[in-house]
Amino acid sequence: MDVGTYKEHMPQAILKQQSLRERLEILADAAKYDASCASSGTAKKNSIGGKGVGSTEGMGICHAYAPDGRCISLLKVLLTNHCIFDCHYCINRKSSNTPRARFTPQEVADLTINFYKRNYIEGLFLSSGIIKSSNHTMEQLMETARILREEYDFRGYIHLKTIPEADPELIEQAGMYADRVSINVELPTRAGLTRLAPDKDEAEIEGALAKTSARIIQAKDERKRFRHAPRFAPAGQSTQMIVGADDANDTAIVSRAAGLYGNFGLRRVYYSAFSPIPDASAVLPLKRPPLMREHRLYQSDWLMRFYGFGANDVADATEDDGNLPLDIDPKLAWALKFRGEFPVDVNRASKEQLLRVPGLGTTAVGRILKARRYRRLRLEDVGRLTQSIAKVRPFLVAADWRPTQLTDRADLRSMLAPKLEQLELF
Ligand code: SF4
Repeated sequence: MDVGTYKEHMPQAILKQQSLRERLEILADAAKYDASCASSGTAKKNSIGGKGVGSTEGMGICHAYAPDGRCISLLKVLLTNHCIFDCHYCINRKSSNTPRARFTPQEVADLTINFYKRNYIEGLFLSSGIIKSSNHTMEQLMETARILREEYDFRGYIHLKTIPEADPELIEQAGMYADRVSINVELPTRAGLTRLAPDKDEAEIEGALAKTSARIIQAKDERKRFRHAPRFAPAGQSTQMIVGADDANDTAIVSRAAGLYGNFGLRRVYYSAFSPIPDASAVLPLKRPPLMREHRLYQSDWLMRFYGFGANDVADATEDDGNLPLDIDPKLAWALKFRGEFPVDVNRASKEQLLRVPGLGTTAVGRILKARRYRRLRLEDVGRLTQSIAKVRPFLVAADWRPTQLTDRADLRSMLAPKLEQLELF
């Protein structure tokens, strides 16, 4: 692979002409396509008592807006948008005509601290195009985090995107400074990755995820035994998959996500609906997939993490083309396909059975289990615990309610399907 050099592509004279603000505009804009930043779950650190600067306490530290208006992060910036790789779906790929810029690690650290002190942000999400080499890029990312932590005593949230091709020791060091690290698997299938990201290698990506996962488990174990053992990415690792840039269906995407959760203990898999970029490669689809598809994938992800569904259950809820229906949520789709499992008796059913009932969320199920210890629940009691009793009724038996024939109705789906523009929860 011809990796070129940074200077070939970005003469110093051009760099010097760009003001800090111009570079920030370019590099913050270039980072907006990455959805994999959320700050939940990290260790609590703060500067109460005058020690250090910053805090990780509080949710949703990073927010930014994707082209479609979704709120996805806060100070989210690239170190550089120059890249020696040529991933077809990426605006920063080597062959793209996009304006380029770069920061030094010191500049990003200074920006972070200055923005933090002005209350603009509470943390940093830092990613980068690959400059010179994977190791060099990883060193630069790590150096930014090191300056923030060691020189500024910054205790706020840092999420570093790590480079799977970099030396494991560099990723190890990054994890010592960052709250969360992430490595994007990019595409759901190996074939998709080979076609659309020819410089990337699935085995290398999964190898880096495995090493990071093992290191996170080791650090947690050490901290159980030694209070002062160093932390390593206490908010865990996450990844992102692009949806709709290749022909992988939802069954393939959900199955890959389940494998990633199971094999690498990921905190989150983010699904990012492919959005056509300016100056797009000819191998990409011209249209983005419906945003609702991304939403249905997040719902099925939720079902797998909190409702006891397996990837096979989600696959069972898909249509003939292997994609989840867009007009109803995946839990309702599953229930409509397996009507024989319903209705379940709200006063006798197991927690697992109740979690399968469309319209009952985890909180409602917890309340039902608690309340029925003291009395037999009527439909009205369940209604007080849910947002939509109409959705629950066909699938539930209560002390005063039995849905005769309701689950057998041919028009049950249309009765329960929300209006398309609504993004309903469970
Ligand atoms: S490695 Fe690929 S996805 Fe990442 S910045 Fe470079 S071209 Fe874009």
